[in-house]
Amino acid sequence: MSRGIVRWGAELERFRQADRRLLSNISDLAEPAPLSSGQQRRLDELVDLYFTLCLPDAGAFEPSRVILDDPPTMRTLVEAAVVLGGFDRSLLAAEARRLLLDEMEADGDDHVSGLVFIPGQARDMNRWADAEDPGALAQRLIRVLGSVRFAAWAAFQGLSFAPDELGIATHVTAILERLTGWHRRLAALLMLCHSGDQADALAAEWLVKDDPILRRAAAVWAAHRRVSQRAAKQPVLAALRDRDAEVRDEALTHLTPDSLDDELTEWVRAASDGAVGWRCMQCGRDNVPEAQACEQCHTTGPELRRHIDELLDG
Ligand SMILES: [Zn+2]
Repeated sequence: MSRGIVRWGAELERFRQADRRLLSNISDLAEPAPLSSGQQRRLDELVDLYFTLCLPDAGAFEPSRVILDDPPTMRTLVEAAVVLGGFDRSLLAAEARRLLLDEMEADGDDHVSGLVFIPGQARDMNRWADAEDPGALAQRLIRVLGSVRFAAWAAFQGLSFAPDELGIATHVTAILERLTGWHRRLAALLMLCHSGDQADALAAEWLVKDDPILRRAAAVWAAHRRVSQRAAKQPVLAALRDRDAEVRDEALTHLTPDSLDDELTEWVRAASDGAVGWRCMQCGRDNVPEAQACEQCHTTGPELRRHIDELLDG
């Protein structure tokens, strides 16, 4: 057997171990409720929890890294999703137990990870009034913004619904300088979401900064404001002619056809003009205009041409 296959076998065992650990944590949330036969078959509550935790979209190695190597982060996420998503703890516990039991009866067959292939629905994590200590929960979620992608994304979802009095923008400002790449983009977006009347001014300030990640967040914000409230188009125009192609791409992918007027349409059409390089959000490398994927980490680059066509033909 090659060493590669041996290593993969060990990884698979780790995935299974992580699946079981998470289910066992969920089964400890409460005394299990009795399940109807329909509930036993469907496992709706549990599947929705997995979607709310962004697990179905997680990269292959991400869940085990959090579940097995960083239990406090996983606890924070499960607690946040259960409380803020309004999940029924007893039902979750019962469904998790049911699945663990199946797994033991199936003698090693992997039923658990199949959960992420069942269609479910992420719930809005907006029930902050139900949290015992909303301020402490928010602080813990803010720390998760620096974790792996699915975890940071789930934390972002919860924090985006946090009430204004928790001062999310101020707390995130305190950690922004430590964050790089896509972590930084998420944190910057959160700051904008929670800056109230000051958000447009903050985005305008970022659009002229050297940092392309802050300009990307500002481009998303400007496009979002244009789409949802027909806000002024100047910041969107600035994003569409940015010196980083990824900033232009953010504007293109967050605009909608009905948010365009004649002038914006012209700028959208011209968004791929000129030789524009781009900074990779994964590794930070500055890539040449011709690079379709990052020359260092192979992350896919901006797709201006395709997004222009989709926006103008849509
Ligand atoms: Zn890269």
